Amino acid sequence: EIRVRFAPSPTGPLHIGGLRTALFNYLFAKNHNGKFIVRIEDTDQNRFVKGAEDYILDSLKWCGLTVDEGPKIGGPYGPYRQSERKHLYQDYAKQLIKTGHAYYAFDTPQELNDHRKNHEQKGKTFIYNWHNRLKLKNSLALSSEVVKQKIDANEPYVIRFKCPENQTLLLEDIIRGEIKIDSSTLDDKVLFKNDGMPTYHLANIVDDHLMKISHVIRGEEWLPSLALHNLLYEAFNWEKPKFAHLPLILKPIGKGKLSKRDGEKGGFPIFPLSWNESIGYKESGFFPEAVVNFLALLGWNPGTEQELFTLSELGNSFSLDRVNKSGARFDPEKNNWFNQQWLQQMDNTTLLPHYKQLLESNGVNTTEHSDDALIRIISLIKERASFVSDFWELSNYFFVAPITYNEKASKKQWKENTPELMSSLSQELETVQQFSSANIESTTKSWIEEKGHSFGKVIAPFRLALVGDLKGPHLFDIASLIGKEETLNRLTTAIN
Ligand code: GLU
Repeated sequence: EIRVRFAPSPTGPLHIGGLRTALFNYLFAKNHNGKFIVRIEDTDQNRFVKGAEDYILDSLKWCGLTVDEGPKIGGPYGPYRQSERKHLYQDYAKQLIKTGHAYYAFDTPQELNDHRKNHEQKGKTFIYNWHNRLKLKNSLALSSEVVKQKIDANEPYVIRFKCPENQTLLLEDIIRGEIKIDSSTLDDKVLFKNDGMPTYHLANIVDDHLMKISHVIRGEEWLPSLALHNLLYEAFNWEKPKFAHLPLILKPIGKGKLSKRDGEKGGFPIFPLSWNESIGYKESGFFPEAVVNFLALLGWNPGTEQELFTLSELGNSFSLDRVNKSGARFDPEKNNWFNQQWLQQMDNTTLLPHYKQLLESNGVNTTEHSDDALIRIISLIKERASFVSDFWELSNYFFVAPITYNEKASKKQWKENTPELMSSLSQELETVQQFSSANIESTTKSWIEEKGHSFGKVIAPFRLALVGDLKGPHLFDIASLIGKEETLNRLTTAIN
C-alpha cells in the first residue's frame, strides 16, 4: 500500500514550500490510491508555537487536501502528534545502544562550547564524529561501568548515533537518482536529548517505520539528512521507504531560495492563511483552486501545454518522474494569472456572495439591489478582473455617482455644445418607458440620426457623465442597470 505523510513542525505559519510538499504528497497518494497522512513533529519544545498546528491543518483544508489519517481525525497508527508518542522513542534509542549503533554522551554544554572555541582558534570547525569521539573523554571513551554510574547518579546525557567511518554510502532518491556519500564526512547526530525527547531524526525514522510510510516526499533541505536516515534504517534492520526530495523554490528573480522576506520585499503575500499580522493568499483574494494550481507547477510539469488543472485532474496526472531536480522559480505575476483564469471559470452565482461582501465593505447596502442586477454587473466586468477585489474598482460607478471626471478625457470630450446635447438627450431618455438596455440604445441612436449628431460626440460625454471616465462595459447596459432616475440625475450633475 502507498502511504505518504506530510510531517510539519508546528513552529509557525505554513509557508509556500511546506504547502507544496503537502500538495505533492497528497497528489502522489491520490494517483496511487494510497493514504495521505499528517504527522505533527513537535518534539522541539523550544520552537513550538501555539496555534501553528491548527493553522497548518486549516490551510490544508482550505486547499482541499483531505487528510486520511492525522491529528484530530486519528487513524490506525496514531497518535499522530509526536509529543503524544514521547514514551515510544527512548526504547528505540536504547536498542541502538545495545546493538552498538549509538552511545551515551555526557558532555556538558560548557565542554562542547570549549571544544568549539579551541577548534575555532585553530581555524577549524568542531565536528563530533569518528575522528574525535574517543578523544573527547566524556562519551564513547567511558567504560560501561562509568556510564552506568553516571546514569544512576542522574547525570544529564544525550544519545548520539555512531556513524560508521570510511564507508561509501549509496543513497537512492527518486528524483535525483543515486547519490554517493563518504560516511566519514558525517557527524554523530544526537538522537535523544536530555529533556527526555527524541530529536527530529530519531522520531522521524521511528514514526515513518511504525506508520508504514512507503514514500518520503519532502523538501530538498532534508537531503543532507538522507545519509543518516539510511544508516538509521540499517541500524534498526528496517525496510527503508523510498525517498524523493523536491526541488527548491527560488526567488522571483530566479536565484536563491525563496524566503518569507521575499513576500514583504516583493509586495506579495507568502502565507496561504493569515498569521497574526501577515496577509496571506486567502486574505488577498486568491481562490484555493488557483493556489493549488500554481503550487502544483512549482517543480512538476504535466509534459503537455496544459496549465489549468483542478485538484482531481492533478491527482490523475501527477507523477514523481515529472518532478524536476532544478529549482522552481516563484512567479507572483503568474500566480495572479492563475487566479484570473480561475475567476473567469467561476460562475457568477458562486461569485455573488463574495461580491456582496466586497460591496458592503465599501459602504453599499446590497439589500437595495436585486441578485439579478448584481449578477448582471459581475457578468459585465468579470473579464477585466483577476481578483474579486478588482470588482470594486471596475464597478463602483454602478453604486455611487462619479464625484470627479477624468480630466484628460473631459478636456477632449466635453465640448462647448456638450451641455446642450446632454440636456436634449436627457429629455429624450425621459420618454423611455421600459428602461432596458435595448430601449435606451434604440432611443439614443434614432435621436442621434434624426438630429444628425455625431455618435462619438454624444456617447463619450454620456459615458463620462455616468462613469466619470471613458472605461466600462457597454454604456446602455450601465444606464439600464443604474436606472432611469439615476441616469438622468447623473446627466444633470454633469451638465451643471
Ligand atoms: N518535521 C520536518 C519538517 O518540518 C519533516 C521533514 C521530513 O519530512 O522528514 O519539515
